[in-house]
Amino acid sequence: MSPTLTITPFRTPARGVAQVPGSKSITNRALLLAALAEGETLFTGALFSRDTRILCAALLALGYEVTTDEAAQTIRIVGLGGRIPKAHAKLHVGNAGTAARFLTAFLALAPQGVYEMDGDEAMRARPMAGLLDALTSAGCRALRADGQPATHFPFTLHTAGRLGDLEVDASASSQLLSALLMALPLSPGASVRMKGATVSEPFVVMTEKMCAQFGRPLVRDAAGAWRCAQPGPYRAAGTYAIEPDATAASYFIALPAVTGAGAGVRLQGYVKGGLQGDTAFAAVAARCGATLTPQGSALVVQTWHDLQGGEFDFNDFSDTFLTLATLAPLASSPTTIRNIGHTRKQETDRVLAMATELERLGVKVVPTAAELRADESLATLTIHPARAALQQAAARGPVAIHTYEDHRMAMSFGILGSYDLFGDGRPWIAIQDPACTSKTFPKFFQALEALRTRFVAVAVDGGAASGKSSTAKVVARDLGLLHVDTGAHYRSVTRALLDAGARAEDPASVLPALAGLRLGSEISGISSCVTLDGRRPADASLRTEDVNASVSKFAALPAVRNFLLAYQRSQVALGQAAGFAGVIMEGRDIGSVVLPDAEVRVFLQADPVARAQRRAAEGQTDAVAQRDLLDSTRATAPLVCPAGATRIDNTHLSLVAVVAQVKALVQSAARLV
Ligand code: C5P
Repeated sequence: MSPTLTITPFRTPARGVAQVPGSKSITNRALLLAALAEGETLFTGALFSRDTRILCAALLALGYEVTTDEAAQTIRIVGLGGRIPKAHAKLHVGNAGTAARFLTAFLALAPQGVYEMDGDEAMRARPMAGLLDALTSAGCRALRADGQPATHFPFTLHTAGRLGDLEVDASASSQLLSALLMALPLSPGASVRMKGATVSEPFVVMTEKMCAQFGRPLVRDAAGAWRCAQPGPYRAAGTYAIEPDATAASYFIALPAVTGAGAGVRLQGYVKGGLQGDTAFAAVAARCGATLTPQGSALVVQTWHDLQGGEFDFNDFSDTFLTLATLAPLASSPTTIRNIGHTRKQETDRVLAMATELERLGVKVVPTAAELRADESLATLTIHPARAALQQAAARGPVAIHTYEDHRMAMSFGILGSYDLFGDGRPWIAIQDPACTSKTFPKFFQALEALRTRFVAVAVDGGAASGKSSTAKVVARDLGLLHVDTGAHYRSVTRALLDAGARAEDPASVLPALAGLRLGSEISGISSCVTLDGRRPADASLRTEDVNASVSKFAALPAVRNFLLAYQRSQVALGQAAGFAGVIMEGRDIGSVVLPDAEVRVFLQADPVARAQRRAAEGQTDAVAQRDLLDSTRATAPLVCPAGATRIDNTHLSLVAVVAQVKALVQSAARLV
């Protein structure tokens, strides 16, 4: 067990881009589908956690070529069109439900395989019988060590290489059904029908959508049986982007409920209508008082305007019930969470675990933990408001929360502990075995910590090709800052002025052309892009020879600079409203004129030969030295090293080294004392 972690309550509003990893459910489905495809697939934004590592390791052990790059969050896998290289293997699935179920059905496709399958103690208690029964009816045998048919892990699977017409009881877990659905296209003529109903319908929909994404859509006939109309190996997806994990995101939707006014947390890539049913949590949070603003492909969460209870059916997105349950003691009315019986057979009995730990904090729950222990069929939990009881329970110091090897227990109580219960920053919750989050979110507590920051403005100035953009973009990505390239502002205006027939040598031609332009912003990823009259100019149109040749001349005109100044300053408020941890703005006069009060000011330089080479390497014709001369000798807002700026000469430095230096400056400015 990892050492207990005491949670320090947030005394300032949470702020910044939540570093949410890729979805576990999607990563593990995608790995299996890609292995069953013909050819190579590269996953980006992949999750690296215990459960995905288990599946990668199993695929390697089965003879697949799997290459992982954890820093880049990519996994490359070469699919073999349904062929499983090793007919014999010993596989350990830990406590990874997806790996356990998905692999078992996958292995059934091997014509004469013998696979020794085992899992952790907890996995040995989790439901497998529905899947094993179905596979047995297709000629597989799953046997215990004593030779008797197995209903749980461990077992030895003797495979027959086909599926046939199967019936599966997936009432205990939808993964039992999803596992068979993914294998279906590889067994021509096979079909899968459910006995009764399943829990977590959205996960079945996710499976169906992903089978279709990999080229083998499934259809469900009138009798409810799934088939693949055109069976065969899946098609390799080329490059496949894994969505960020919507369940993990729920903790950051919850956090601004407990961290006071002025919070702004940004969830990149959190959109309704993707593959994940757990995005339904956002609607529940909104009913309880969350302030949520979708912004393109991101969701911005501000301080909740209220925190009230209510009655909610969590059947379809039950992984997120723990997130709401831990907010519930702080709500103004009771919270009832229905239809979560199936979570009693997950990583742990989640309903019982939640009730037990809330009671440890003095919270009244119905049914009580004792009642839940006595009756395994109870599937609803009501949690009563309990601020006073919490204070009493924690009066003598932090209460240690047991996590039962359940990552979601650790993460959800981590959010509750972020609440400043006593109003003096005193910690009141400690999480036992915090490393259990490694199942799906190894860096959860670091990601939480990263939102405890002061909003900072960072000015990066320097001559042409001095490395401003490359540096600013990486720092912005790593630290959750809004990236603003003011060079692009001048280029966009230059493009529009040239198109309108204005000439820098004739200021009288510039003013009327400028007057007709309306500036706006569009956030794309983590960059704020300028729009002119509601349209974003194409990047290529801003780096043409005519723009390169005249941008510095237009930029020297006071009318052009004034036209952009207020707009550029307004980007700070935009960054704040959009939930970024700060703004990093690059240009020539940022630290000196646009944001002279920026907490961090950096001046980048490199020798002229190196800079000319960088531009040439980008394939651009750009008289770097000439632009620098114009930029640094103009009367208004010339290119200078701003007072108090840190000078970095990067002629002989790698990008990594420059980024590290700038990040250290930003982190020290953003640190809350
Ligand atoms: O950074 P980039 O090379 O794209 O900038 C293009 C030009 O825009 C610069 O050479 C300069 O003339 C002008 N500029 C400026 N002030 C800024 C940013 C860019 O004058 N803050």
